[in-house]
Parts: sequence; structure tokens; C-alpha cells
Amino acid sequence: MPAKEILRAIRDAIRAGWNEPPGRTGGRAHIYKKLFCPGGRGCCPPLFINGTPDVAEHEAAKIYKAVAGCPASK
Ligand SMILES: [Zn+2]
Repeated sequence: MPAKEILRAIRDAIRAGWNEPPGRTGGRAHIYKKLFCPGGRGCCPPLFINGTPDVAEHEAAKIYKAVAGCPASK
């Protein structure tokens, strides 16, 4: 289970309109979740969230930065 900082950042991203694709993320083992921005194609690249980063705060900051930089996010 990822650190609480990361879970909080994910929750905030979802609240801002980012969405999880259905089904399992699969692929790279350290990827905990994949989120798509609300702007659709051509807006932001998908956000790959590492569930077990070296520094949880850095991973959370990456999520917040992506959300803040997305013009379609609420
Ligand atoms: Zn976007």
C-alpha cells in the first residue's frame, strides 16, 4: 500500500477530474496506478504513479504538479 501522502495526492487528482482507466494497470510492477487527465487526448500525458517510490513526498509532489499544470483540471 502506498504512503498516505501518495494516496492523498491520488484522491485530490481524482477530485480534480482525473480518472482511472478500468481494469488492472498491469505492466511495470512498481506502477501502482495510472491516471488520465480530464482534458482527453492532446492535453496531458498519462500519469504513472509509483506506489513504492524512494521518497513518497516527491511522488506526491509529482502528482500535484501534473494536476496543477493541467488546464482541464478543476
Ligand atoms: Zn490535462
